[in-house]
Amino acid sequence: MLVADILRHKGGQVVSVFPDVPVSRVLAVLGSHRIGAVLVIDRNGGVHGILSERDIVRRLWREGTATMEMPAQAVMTRHLVTALPSTTVAEVMQMMTVGRFRHVPVIDQGQLLGLISIGDVVKARIDEQEEENVSLRAYIAGAA
Ligand code: AMP
Repeated sequence: MLVADILRHKGGQVVSVFPDVPVSRVLAVLGSHRIGAVLVIDRNGGVHGILSERDIVRRLWREGTATMEMPAQAVMTRHLVTALPSTTVAEVMQMMTVGRFRHVPVIDQGQLLGLISIGDVVKARIDEQEEENVSLRAYIAGAA
């Protein structure tokens, strides 16, 4: 299964914030959408980084409540690990495990196509196993 297959079901919409948006506002976006990370994107669509609840928690721990007034770009992770539509779901799992993160943006030739979360990956693997079980049961029933 490929990243493109997940995006076909899930769609390409990505929740994002502008680089100058304060962390207090980012928290509202994360909470209201029930998500763990947003992409930080400028007004021309350029991707600057990713800002996850973990970045905010770490900064709160180190610098206290002043974090709430900081712009998203001061707290985000700049160096992004990304996938292509042709990347396999197994490869994305590997990226998440090695990098210890739960989100992978899908970017092809500079164009943002979507965001894959660990929840999407787990769902894809369960669906894949379910399909395999159905085929195996049909094969066994046919052979009997
Ligand atoms: P997460 O587990 O995705 O909430 O993020 C854990 C940490 O990894 C945070 O510091 C994120 O900013 C960072 N992070 C999340 N996704 C990525 C990614 N695709 N590439 C690089 N860093 C990431």
